Amino acid sequence: MRRSYVFRLRPTRHQEIALAACLDDHRELYNGALEHRRTAYRKAGVIVRYGDQSAELKSIRADDPDGQARWSFSSQQATLRRLDRAFAAFFTRIRAGRTPGFPRFKGRGWFNTVEWPKDGDGCRWNSQPDHPTATYVRFQGVGHIRVHQHRRVSGTVKTISVKRAGSRWFVVLSCDDVPARPLPRTDAMTGIDMGVAWFVTTSEGMHIANPRHLLADAGRLVGAQRSLARKKRGSKRRRKEVARVAAIHGKIRRQRLDSAHKTACGLVRDYDVIVHEALQVGKMTRRARPLPDGRGGFSPNGAAAKSGLNRSILDAGWGVFLAILSHKAESAGRELIAVNPANTSRTCARCGHCAADNRVSQAEFRCGTCGHVAHADVNAAQNILRAGLALRGAVAA
Ligand SMILES: [Zn+2]
Repeated sequence: MRRSYVFRLRPTRHQEIALAACLDDHRELYNGALEHRRTAYRKAGVIVRYGDQSAELKSIRADDPDGQARWSFSSQQATLRRLDRAFAAFFTRIRAGRTPGFPRFKGRGWFNTVEWPKDGDGCRWNSQPDHPTATYVRFQGVGHIRVHQHRRVSGTVKTISVKRAGSRWFVVLSCDDVPARPLPRTDAMTGIDMGVAWFVTTSEGMHIANPRHLLADAGRLVGAQRSLARKKRGSKRRRKEVARVAAIHGKIRRQRLDSAHKTACGLVRDYDVIVHEALQVGKMTRRARPLPDGRGGFSPNGAAAKSGLNRSILDAGWGVFLAILSHKAESAGRELIAVNPANTSRTCARCGHCAADNRVSQAEFRCGTCGHVAHADVNAAQNILRAGLALRGAVAA
């Protein structure tokens, strides 16, 4: 199987300057190639292809011996391919009848990744294997950079990327043939419900909370973005505010990853089979429907929590979580089943009666037919588990 590793880089001052120059030259290459495609498309209706642009690389390098020629030919090709993918996505959206924005020029600070498509070609992982204590990665034009390697790398290194995040630098390895490490069987299965009040609830009634400071940070983010909108373009205060917004985003991302890892690890360790709802991105960001309270009025339905930024931050968290869960499940030899989420929250897990008013509040489920009372998320998780097992049985039969 395939997996990627991210390690912090420890460049020297000199190397840091070279890395920044490397990113900037790749950015210029990207923008130049974009300009070329734009002009050809707008003025003559001609679509320039990756092959045309890649063929020009040789002369671009020859004309710029102290600039573009310093870097790896292959990483430059990878940058042109990245632009090619942006265009492919653009045309796909047009064909789907939408009106996408034209691929954009990358401003300073908006181009933070360069990829070397093959280990050994302009880059080398573990470039000083005889060093007694440290690991190094070498990039053409930059040199051997020290890596903070906090875990062992297994499999074969395929692609190597450099990533800048604020003032920090990372190396990302994408490895093939990483051996799976199956976990011992537990003979247990679970269904999980992903929600707003609780990040994850299992069909056995275990709740896992959202990352503790996530929503507080969401609030701070709203404040920072508002204040950013009031700052004058190009002003020093605006720059400061941009950095603040980026720092909050970074913190939210790290919290999300950290809690997703922990939650996924626990589930994969404890269960052989895990059933979850298939994420439906378009639907999820829709506002929550009010819940009738049975006395002709409407009870609070968590609409405030579900709307706007909080909601979108939670949405992104579920996507990240499921990606990590699927990865860990595959590596551990566990079975992961996705089911259609329709009606899972309004169906009684005991008798199967399905009605909107079964759910009396955000937290409580009470069946109108059999009187079954349960935590609404646990009830939903039990329905999810049942749907998953039914699906599994249908496949096996
Ligand atoms: Zn019932």
